[in-house]
Parts: sequence; C-alpha cells; structure tokens
Amino acid sequence: MQNTESFLLDNGKIDLARVKNGILLLTFDDGRFETWLPHLELFDRFNAHATFFYDKEITAECADSMKQLRARGHSVGFHSTTHKDAVDITPEAYYREYIRPQVEQAEALGVRDIAFFAYPNNRHSEEFDRFLSRYFARFRAGTGIKAPKGYWIADFEEPYVALEELPGHRVMGGCGIGPFYETTQENLDAALEKAARENKAVTFFSHAILSEAKTVHMASATLEAMLEKAAELGMMIAGFSELP
Ligand SMILES: [Zn+2]
Repeated sequence: MQNTESFLLDNGKIDLARVKNGILLLTFDDGRFETWLPHLELFDRFNAHATFFYDKEITAECADSMKQLRARGHSVGFHSTTHKDAVDITPEAYYREYIRPQVEQAEALGVRDIAFFAYPNNRHSEEFDRFLSRYFARFRAGTGIKAPKGYWIADFEEPYVALEELPGHRVMGGCGIGPFYETTQENLDAALEKAARENKAVTFFSHAILSEAKTVHMASATLEAMLEKAAELGMMIAGFSELP
C-alpha cells in the first residue's frame, strides 16, 4: 500500500510526478455525516481520503462533522441549501440564494475556506462553472454519459482525467455508486483497473454509507472492497483538497 503522505508536496498537494497508478476520487453527497463518521477508521486503514458534500442548512452538528472530517485529512464541500438544479436561474442568483447562506452558516460556526461544490443532481453548465469558479476551486458533476444504468464504466473516457490535465480540470465528472446506478463490484473493479493501468484520476459519487446498500447509497462492504482494490492496485485515494 502506498503511503499518501510521501506523495504530498509541502503545500499538501499531490506530487503528480510520483503517481504511477492513478488516483481514486470518492465523493459523497447530501450531508449524511452520521453515516460517514463511523467509517473514518476504514478510510484510515487504507490511507484513504475522500470529499464530502453538504446540502441544506449548515447546523452546528454539520459544522462539527466537517471539522472532524478535515482533521482526518478529508475534504468537505457545499451542495446548496435546497438541492435545486443549477438551471433556469442565473449563476449569480443561484449563488446568492442557495450557496452563500451555507458559506455564511459554516463561517459563523468556524468552518472556513470551503473550496468545493457538488452540483445537485449533477446538473450544470459552462456558464455556471465559469461564474462559480470565483468561489470554488473544484466541482463535482456528472459524466454526461448517456447509457443505460449498469453500463460498463471502463468503456467510457468521461469519468477519467489524465494526470497532466488534472491541474486545469476543475469539473470532476463522476459515476454513481449504489443499487440505483446498478454498479456491481466487477464493474467498479474494472473501472479502477483502467485508472491504475492508464495512470488517470477517476471520480465516483454516492451518498450515505450504510451497512446495506440501498437506492443511491453505498454499502460499507462496497466501500471497503473499493478501498482494498485501489490500494492493491497502488492507487492514491485522495480528497479534492489534495489535487493540484
Ligand atoms: Zn445530492
């Protein structure tokens, strides 16, 4: 297993020149921190970091969980107050109505410099990406793949980013994990193998982490199997804050 620390530069960013087997970027949406925090030990076991996105009001409990995640090396981001699609509204109004309140709530509770945003339902446009880049360094969106659920992820290029393109690549297109997306372990394994073989970053998203896989949520066993597989392949398992 790789020691993540040895791949980080003094600024806390990954030294891409030293990465030879790709990067796994796991992201989790919808502020389900009560299911995330019990898995911190599991992430630690694989020197793994992920990125966790919060929708709705940033309560004291949310802020506390953000602090815990960050203290363990994970990244946190916003996901809007209402989970409203970023369509049929100007980016200015969207930020003012649905994002700025979260920023202010988090700051009031001592959580600052949140540099990441996951688009609700993965809906976004270049206009939004451009405008919101004033506030955020990186976004999580969908891949735009138009294929039936359960498609073979490794057959597509959209979820993958070559490492040399990573610094300029602000919008990470992810594939969903969970029964709703019909992701089997074989499919996920093959997706990771492609990333490792081609030395690319690959992004996934899920929501809660539950003992049993349900709808759009990920099973603890799936998480463990993915971390195990990625570690076995010698991949880095990183959060957005570690990306150059
Ligand atoms: Zn969501």
